Amino acid sequence: MRAQQAPATHRLVCRACGRTEPVHCVVGAHPTSPAGFLLEAAEVVFRGYCAPCRSTGG
Ligand SMILES: [Zn+2]
Repeated sequence: MRAQQAPATHRLVCRACGRTEPVHCVVGAHPTSPAGFLLEAAEVVFRGYCAPCRSTGG
Protein backbone atom coordinates (compact mmCIF):
# COMPACT_ATOMS: atom_id res chain seq x y z
CA MET A 1 0.00 0.00 0.00
CA ARG A 2 1.49 3.29 -1.05
CA ALA A 3 1.56 6.09 1.45
CA GLN A 4 1.20 8.89 -1.05
CA GLN A 5 -0.51 11.98 0.25
CA ALA A 6 -3.28 13.53 -1.75
CA PRO A 7 -2.72 17.16 -2.69
CA ALA A 8 -4.62 19.50 -0.41
CA THR A 9 -5.87 22.99 -1.06
CA HIS A 10 -6.34 25.29 1.85
CA ARG A 11 -7.80 28.73 1.59
CA LEU A 12 -9.22 31.51 3.66
CA VAL A 13 -12.55 32.94 2.58
CA CYS A 14 -13.90 36.23 3.89
CA ARG A 15 -17.59 36.04 4.70
CA ALA A 16 -18.04 39.74 4.06
CA CYS A 17 -16.34 40.46 0.73
CA GLY A 18 -15.69 36.95 -0.55
CA ARG A 19 -11.98 37.49 -0.83
CA THR A 20 -9.97 34.30 -0.88
CA GLU A 21 -6.40 33.76 0.18
CA PRO A 22 -4.49 30.55 -0.34
CA VAL A 23 -2.70 29.28 2.70
CA HIS A 24 -0.14 26.58 3.18
CA CYS A 25 -1.00 24.10 5.84
CA VAL A 26 0.48 20.92 7.06
CA VAL A 27 -1.52 18.00 5.77
CA GLY A 28 -2.50 15.67 8.54
CA ALA A 29 -4.07 12.28 8.48
CA HIS A 30 -6.79 11.75 5.94
CA PRO A 31 -10.22 10.63 7.06
CA THR A 32 -11.03 7.04 6.58
CA SER A 33 -12.63 6.58 3.18
CA PRO A 34 -15.53 4.23 2.60
CA ALA A 35 -14.63 0.97 0.96
CA GLY A 36 -13.99 1.40 -2.73
CA PHE A 37 -13.62 5.16 -2.52
CA LEU A 38 -10.38 6.50 -3.99
CA LEU A 39 -9.38 9.70 -2.25
CA GLU A 40 -7.53 11.96 -4.68
CA ALA A 41 -7.64 15.43 -3.22
CA ALA A 42 -8.76 17.45 -0.25
CA GLU A 43 -9.94 20.99 0.14
CA VAL A 44 -10.13 22.90 3.38
CA VAL A 45 -11.85 26.26 3.63
CA PHE A 46 -11.40 28.55 6.60
CA ARG A 47 -14.16 31.15 6.84
CA GLY A 48 -13.85 34.42 8.64
CA TYR A 49 -13.27 38.10 8.00
CA CYS A 50 -10.28 39.74 6.34
CA ALA A 51 -8.47 42.68 7.90
CA PRO A 52 -10.25 45.42 5.90
CA CYS A 53 -13.66 43.95 6.66
CA ARG A 54 -12.81 43.57 10.31
CA SER A 55 -11.79 47.22 10.57
CA THR A 56 -14.81 48.58 8.71
CA GLY A 57 -17.53 46.09 9.51
CA GLY A 58 -17.03 46.04 13.26
ZN1 LIG B 1 -13.32 40.88 3.50
